[in-house]
Amino acid sequence: MTLYRSFSAVQTDLQSGIVTCRQLVEQYLDRIAEHQHLNAFTDVYTDESRQQADAIDQKISKGTAGRLVGMVIGIKDVLSYANHPLRAGSKILDGFTAQFTATAIQRLIDADAIIIGRQNCDEFAMGSANENSAFGPVRNAVDTSRVPGGSSGGSAVAVQAGLCLASIGSDTGGSVRQPAAFCGVVGLKPTYGRISRWGLVAYASSFDCIGPIANTTHDAALLLEVMAGHDEFDSTVSSQPIAEYSRAKLPDNKKLRIAYLRDGVESTGVDTSIRQATQRSIDALRNAGHTVEPVQLSLVNSLLPVYYILTTAEASSNLSRFDGVRYGYRDKSAPELLALYKQTRTTGFGAEVRRRILLGTFALSASYYDAYYTKAQQVRRLIREETERLFAQYDFLLSPTTPTTAFAIGEKNDDPLQQFLADIFTVQANVVGYPALSIPNGTDENGLPIGLQLMAPPFREGELVALGERIMNY
Ligand code: GLN
Repeated sequence: MTLYRSFSAVQTDLQSGIVTCRQLVEQYLDRIAEHQHLNAFTDVYTDESRQQADAIDQKISKGTAGRLVGMVIGIKDVLSYANHPLRAGSKILDGFTAQFTATAIQRLIDADAIIIGRQNCDEFAMGSANENSAFGPVRNAVDTSRVPGGSSGGSAVAVQAGLCLASIGSDTGGSVRQPAAFCGVVGLKPTYGRISRWGLVAYASSFDCIGPIANTTHDAALLLEVMAGHDEFDSTVSSQPIAEYSRAKLPDNKKLRIAYLRDGVESTGVDTSIRQATQRSIDALRNAGHTVEPVQLSLVNSLLPVYYILTTAEASSNLSRFDGVRYGYRDKSAPELLALYKQTRTTGFGAEVRRRILLGTFALSASYYDAYYTKAQQVRRLIREETERLFAQYDFLLSPTTPTTAFAIGEKNDDPLQQFLADIFTVQANVVGYPALSIPNGTDENGLPIGLQLMAPPFREGELVALGERIMNY
């Protein structure tokens, strides 16, 4: 049976009766079983996805199937799906079952997408390598001794290895785009507020975005289109009209103005193969008649400090709800209430999450609030203003998605700061709330995938995916 790599190919064959939803699901279930060593899924909804497939096959024969008929997806373990366990890659949610379904996921289900399972990720989406999961590391399918990136590592590997057609991840500082780059697939972080966060386990609420991972820009755009839009359960969601992202085109002879980060092709901190691949994309765009010019962000050195101060501060507040009283895991050996909180949180959270809660609590403490939290908010604003000035002159900002290709499992465990550097190109989009896309851009000398990142002004996802598609076809 064909292993489909695009939704349009699935739909063509479904319509002509060459394949059924049930056959698609059986194929993915077989492949998931064959690829268990990748550790991409934490739960596989075997019987349920078969039942859903049969019900949708019935709808096809009656002509009542929805828009996403034949779309078999996996969801990251930070997305709520009613009556299914939800653990955010953490021990602290042991035994917890979701009571409602995330708005974004419900919209996919309503359009007849089939959810095949729940995907492994870094604990509470904190990490860049998927090594911080209570369910063990995920492996990159190109080289299983290497990481898939994080935190949506399971979601990216599942698409890479053909274990589902697309995945839904979350991106707070790069968690959709960076693993997409490491795995050679497409990852889209929409504008902040484009997709409701209702039902997404909160890491840093003013940064968090749900985003699709797929083989093609078209599939990512289509998933965005279905998930996006107003929702009364999320007060930060935008009510801007939803464009037909999956049909968006750039006018044929429009000459674009594209900025690229000089560091992305010149800094020795970026792998040579990545610099070369980025340069080739720049050359191709220039050959097509577009203006492509180097820029430098004056605040580039502040990006990671601002990101890590603000996200850990928000996380320390968001994660205070996991106290052993109301949800999931409880350390029962505690003799009294205070000890119960302490012991539950000490043994329930992993090392990285504990480190971030401590850092965030420190940044928010009375004596240091102004020095760290307030300062970081001020610099966040300066970064936004600088980005706005840049986009007053240019239509897009281009860079590599990551400074390196996938590193070895365990290689960067000793020094958390080393891992933070993996996010150097991705965090800006979250700090300012702009949409950004990672597309595959060849491989390095070891055959490891390279990603190219494109960023656009708010709510320009249509143009963003259209440019991404064009570059993928060069
Ligand atoms: N790697 C970044 C972090 O650990 C990004 C994570 C994310 O986007 N969820 O915070």
